[in-house]
Amino acid sequence: MQYTHDTKQAGEYALEALARLKKEALAATPDNYELWYVYYSGQSPEVTRAIDVLVANKQKITEERCKELFQRFLSESRNEETIRRAGDQINATIKNVSGVVKDVKSATSEYNGRLGNVSEKIADVKDPTELKKLLSTIMFDTKTMLEQNVRLEEQLDKSSHVMEELQRDLENVRREALTDGLTAIANRKAFDAEIKRIASEADAGNTVFTLLLLDIDHFKTFNDNYGHQVGDQVLRLVARTLTDGVKGRDIAARYGGEEFAILLPDTGLQAGVVVGNALRKAVATKDVVNRNTGDKLARITISVGVAEYSNKENLSELIERADSALYTAKHNGRNQVAAAPTPGKKQKKEAG
Ligand code: GH3
Ligand code: MG
Ligand code: MG
Repeated sequence: MQYTHDTKQAGEYALEALARLKKEALAATPDNYELWYVYYSGQSPEVTRAIDVLVANKQKITEERCKELFQRFLSESRNEETIRRAGDQINATIKNVSGVVKDVKSATSEYNGRLGNVSEKIADVKDPTELKKLLSTIMFDTKTMLEQNVRLEEQLDKSSHVMEELQRDLENVRREALTDGLTAIANRKAFDAEIKRIASEADAGNTVFTLLLLDIDHFKTFNDNYGHQVGDQVLRLVARTLTDGVKGRDIAARYGGEEFAILLPDTGLQAGVVVGNALRKAVATKDVVNRNTGDKLARITISVGVAEYSNKENLSELIERADSALYTAKHNGRNQVAAAPTPGKKQKKEAG
């Protein structure tokens, strides 16, 4: 986001933002500060609307909500800003290079012309002095030409450095846009793209894939008992356990809040249930330790819903089936895996 407020205005928004951070007991991190600065400056109608809705619904403004709002509205715009700047820089570089190339081109054709002239004159040269004069003209022109070439080389060198840097910046932006800020695994946006890609691969190869939706059990109580920071620590621990527990082309993503999704290409329902159970057990055996006190906290469990993609199925239907299997796992007592029946397929009984 670009800010164009004058000193007085900016100072007023800053004071309002800081006062609000204090009032809501929010940490004065740069991200939180930016969110509230944007809110008080009214610069982003989306941010204003989202916060006003929370306030109107008497929702508590928590760290986690601020983080979500920042990710949703501001980190994207920060990326857009980098992309816009990269675009400007690419244009400037192209302009520069093509300017130098044009100069060199006209110098080369001039040089060619002069060489032609000299070669005509050489035919009529009578005495050594005249020849010497001609020779020194050629030498002078050649030197100028070489200097021009060195300049072009330098310019091209500089440009290729700028381009390499831009490439790195854009790669970082791309990676950041697809990564969840809290857990550092694939985010919802990455998941949406991956599930589409895997489904079209499955359609093309006439294979199946399986979707797992995983949700932490009684996480609200956990947050209430130990606080959000420990809650965040748990989210990171679960994310790591899931990424460690899948392999190859499998994808683990944070689907939202305390919900995760796993995509298993080339994998059927039965094998999906096996993976789900392995992940469930891996999470349930992890110790959660309070970093400040060193105390072991309550064990974490997850419930898992599994659904197999049936060829050409609408992806929102697949997600709905996994979600309703997850609901079944919750309903049957949590810390278990439930499988959704695949439309048009005879079902074997699944074990949770
Ligand atoms: P269930 O077993 O039915 O899933 O119960 P639950 O308490 O886990 O489910 P519920 O949907 O009621 O609550 C989810 C909680 O997850 C509420 C919210 O505070 C917490 N949560 C969501 N995202 C985050 C986050 O980024 N950090 C932290 N610390 N907590 C989060
Ligand atoms: Mg939950
Ligand atoms: Mg949930």
